[in-house]
Amino acid sequence: MPGGPPSGDRRWARGRGLAVGAVGLAAASYWTLMSPYSQLLGPFPYRRRTTEQVVALTFDDGPNEPYTSQIADVLGNSNVCATFFAVGACVERHPEAARRLLREGHVLGSHGYSHRVRRCAGRAVLRDEVRRTDEVFTRQLGLRPLLFRPPWLLRTPGLFDLAREQSLQLVSGEFAHVLEVAQPSPARIARRAVAKTRPGSIIIFHDGFDAKGGDRAATVAAVELVVAELSARGYRFTTVDRLLGVDPYREAQPRRAPSQPSAPSAAAP
Ligand SMILES: [Zn+2]
Repeated sequence: MPGGPPSGDRRWARGRGLAVGAVGLAAASYWTLMSPYSQLLGPFPYRRRTTEQVVALTFDDGPNEPYTSQIADVLGNSNVCATFFAVGACVERHPEAARRLLREGHVLGSHGYSHRVRRCAGRAVLRDEVRRTDEVFTRQLGLRPLLFRPPWLLRTPGLFDLAREQSLQLVSGEFAHVLEVAQPSPARIARRAVAKTRPGSIIIFHDGFDAKGGDRAATVAAVELVVAELSARGYRFTTVDRLLGVDPYREAQPRRAPSQPSAPSAAAP
């Protein structure tokens, strides 16, 4: 009698072993390179450790009109300041919306120029993305951002080298709702966002979609619900630079025009 399983079984077992290994490798790669929480390659804060009930709402992939302005309306109605990780190409498309955010006390960080995944991995293209966004911010807004959130939170060793070299503050965060880009109901988005919020949280919404625009009406409505619910629970809202105690821009810039009323909810932590 020949020993061991038939050759078909051995192949199946080997195939299963390879599949399990591949899944494990993919999970480890995802955790290292894209998880909001991984700090393996370098510091990538997704919250500040504090017991104070303070939260930073952030918005990626805009400006995207009319939704960015609608979010600004919602935030302004409650005197809430937030942080917008803007895409350079979108700032070129909607410079007025970006200027309005600044005028009303919000902070703008960089989310790269093109939001293309193949422009995030290599050192040279990443450097070019940061440089081009710097140029757009300088030309359209008169400032150079120091806060940088890579598209898809994708991190490479080259990103951390670039951040050190250019004194960029990398910023992670927790997704308000993992399916927010597909726009589930405002109530669903808001429920998840509120459930995730802890003292010192940085919460990620999207006022655009992949630098292409898109309907963000559910996000606008969800933000209104989130602000109301977190306010009722005693949270105050701040911007990422204040939460982390870092400068938002390379050159000192006024936070808001002198004529704007101060926003007590955005006081320094
Ligand atoms: Zn993005």
